[in-house]
Amino acid sequence: MPRLVLGSRNKKKLRELVELLADLVEVVDLSPFPNAPADIEETGTTFEENARIKATTLAPLLGEWTLGEDSGLVVPALGGQPGVYSARWAGTHGDDAANNAKLLAELTKYEGDKRAAYYVSTAALANPAGEVVAVVEGRCWGVIAKEPKGDGGFGYDPLFVIPEYHASFGELSSTVKHALSHRGRAIAKLRPILRRAMG
Ligand code: IMP
Repeated sequence: MPRLVLGSRNKKKLRELVELLADLVEVVDLSPFPNAPADIEETGTTFEENARIKATTLAPLLGEWTLGEDSGLVVPALGGQPGVYSARWAGTHGDDAANNAKLLAELTKYEGDKRAAYYVSTAALANPAGEVVAVVEGRCWGVIAKEPKGDGGFGYDPLFVIPEYHASFGELSSTVKHALSHRGRAIAKLRPILRRAMG
């Protein structure tokens, strides 16, 4: 089975991508590559820019097909925050508890539609020469709850409620999350491209 490197050190994101692509490619993260940089600076101001940075920096360095995936939560009532800064919104990269506390605090004065939010996942696929051969995006709308529910998923998932299911991504199974999520939708668009490019 062909190998696809995910340009990330987020184990929960890796797990989702492994599950989403298990029948097509072997998805690995950066752990088998000692020469991969510890961190790639996400200097872009859009999800696409950051996804491209991750893919084009890593692919030629590793000599592997590489997926750069950049994702985050967009809250229109907060002017689009946290957006591309989702992972480090409260200060420390990957501090989910602090990010969730900040989200609740910022939204205390809002009710109903003002608590609407969407996740975005943008994925850039680069060949081993570092050329981007595809960029795809998926979105998923939800509502930010007033308290966390469930401990599945990661990041903002315990606060991200799918109204039709009356449940958060922290409560829904990974199968349901994959069917509805931004990442599931982005990867569904990528599948035929991956089949052609790597198959
Ligand atoms: P990235 O690793 O720079 O793409 O950062 C993604 C950040 O966005 C994560 O650390 C989370 O805070 C948030 N995020 C992205 N996708 C999800 C998801 O599926 N569930 C929950 N939070 C997510």
